[in-house]
Amino acid sequence: ESFMDMCLHVSIMKDIEFHEYTRPTSIQAQAMPVALSGRDLLGCAETGSGKTAAFTIPMIQHCLAQAPIKRGDGPLALVLAPTRELAQQIEKEVKAFSRSLENFKTAIVVGGTNIAEQRSELRGGVSIVVATPGRFLDHLQQGNTSLGRISFVVLDEADRMLDMGFEPQIREVMRNLPEKHQTLLFSATMPVEIEELAQEYLSNPVQVKV
Ligand code: AMP
Repeated sequence: ESFMDMCLHVSIMKDIEFHEYTRPTSIQAQAMPVALSGRDLLGCAETGSGKTAAFTIPMIQHCLAQAPIKRGDGPLALVLAPTRELAQQIEKEVKAFSRSLENFKTAIVVGGTNIAEQRSELRGGVSIVVATPGRFLDHLQQGNTSLGRISFVVLDEADRMLDMGFEPQIREVMRNLPEKHQTLLFSATMPVEIEELAQEYLSNPVQVKV
């Protein structure tokens, strides 16, 4: 499979070429067609496999199919990641594949950074939020953002998020999402806790492994 076969938006294709991603990696070849088809996905993959683009590209494509975001709107897509560093890497990849799109905004919401700035960014209206679970919940509880329009969720490095004690925050988000949404869960390992999480929150998922 090539990126050409995936029917991606022309501007995403342009950015893929710009970044010289000539061929999909194994996880991309397996996961992207599934994610683009709208199905839930359980992905067993480590950092370095190209998993970030495997979910960011379908996520951007998903957002492009929705009505444009206006000021005050909640986000369309949410990525939860265990650490600030990982969230920053993901945001960078989202920006890389949405750089040619006009009015396509992404917010990064992590601890240890200015909460007022994040609040005004969120309230301004963004398509995608990349966040660590604790800080995202703070903003939700303060009314700075909402879950009501989210239709695409990624739990990245889910095993690490559980190790770090983020399970209650993840569950709080997952159980308050609108009924109709697509979920992608990535984890380097598949302990029973991850299997339970997947059982509970993924609907008939396709499993991929690299
Ligand atoms: P990740 O596993 O998502 O952290 O990606 C690891 C590295 O591989 C990152 O530096 C990506 O920019 C790069 N990368 C991901 N997909 C491709 C691809 N299809 N072709 C070339 N480089 C890639």
